[in-house]
Amino acid sequence: MIVTPSDENIERAAAVVKAGGLVSFPTETVYGLGADAFNEKALAAIFEVKNRPYFDPLIVHLAGIPELETAADLSVLSKIARSAALFLADKFLPGPLTLILPKQPSLPSLATGGLDTVAVRIPASAIAQKLIRLSTGAIAAPSANPFGRLSPTRAVHVEEYFADILILDGGRTALGLESTVLDLTNGEPCILREGGITSEQLSDALGKPCKKRRMEASAGTTSPGLLKSHYAPRSELLLYAHNSLCAAPFVTGTAYIFFEEKSLNAFAKKNGIQPESAAKNYLFALSRSGGSAEVAANLFDTLHAADRLRPAAIYAEQAPAAGLGAAINDRLFKAGGSKSVLA
Ligand code: AMP
Ligand code: MG
Repeated sequence: MIVTPSDENIERAAAVVKAGGLVSFPTETVYGLGADAFNEKALAAIFEVKNRPYFDPLIVHLAGIPELETAADLSVLSKIARSAALFLADKFLPGPLTLILPKQPSLPSLATGGLDTVAVRIPASAIAQKLIRLSTGAIAAPSANPFGRLSPTRAVHVEEYFADILILDGGRTALGLESTVLDLTNGEPCILREGGITSEQLSDALGKPCKKRRMEASAGTTSPGLLKSHYAPRSELLLYAHNSLCAAPFVTGTAYIFFEEKSLNAFAKKNGIQPESAAKNYLFALSRSGGSAEVAANLFDTLHAADRLRPAAIYAEQAPAAGLGAAINDRLFKAGGSKSVLA
């Protein structure tokens, strides 16, 4: 059930969390499906509702930097690692950066997939922060979608998946992509998943190139966010290199997702489609101008819209690799595009 994020409704949602229930709330990344991070039964319900494997650890959402130690235990880190963690937290949080840190022993291991490390984040959304403060201070929340499906960036996306859950409607999420996951437990910070904070931003902050875990190296680990297939539409997705979708053949019943409007218009013109019937012909553009922040914000929404048409296939165009493009391309690959990158 979708409700406005009034004080009264946030309090209502907080009461649900305190009672061990699940609620959906907006963050700047995507909508989360949250429960009390310290309630094992509530944590189990997240996995059950999402059909998420128990070994896939959750991100624990906290309200502020002073609260980090509610879930994470910084005291067992080396002095250097601890100051790196606090420095990065200070620089990027609240925001789309998830830190992997040693876990507080009191945190149920269900929240961490049995690992002795925990993923923590402070969402920038005022609604999320208020909900966290008014409930139990620590909300474990993966994205509010069934395991493996497209992430929700609007309240209606969540409602399509989970009609019975209380959903605080914060409008479209500003960033539209999940957080960057950064491991701080192994000496040197290492990006486990690309996301809203770019590797360039992290490298700038660290004063040296930030390490990244290679995809192959993570095969067989317990991080589905790192697996090759995730965030997927129901239709088959074929990926085209940046600026090359315009040259694809026009096949009725296939959805086309262009990086920018200019390419969509050129494609429409070439194939004799009037610009006003672009949508009818399943043509979508991720941005007006090609800016990657706009593309990120529209990515999942456009994939949802295309997938709703049940097209024979979805053809989508990759982003230039720099900045947010790395996370955008990562999501496109995991949406199934890894099977086919066309020139
Ligand atoms: P999600 O909440 O579905 O966006 O996914 C969170 C991501 O963080 C997943 O890829 C998890 O596997 C990853 N993650 C969470 N906790 C840990 C941890 N302790 N160590 C490594 N990765 C983690
Ligand atoms: Mg997810």
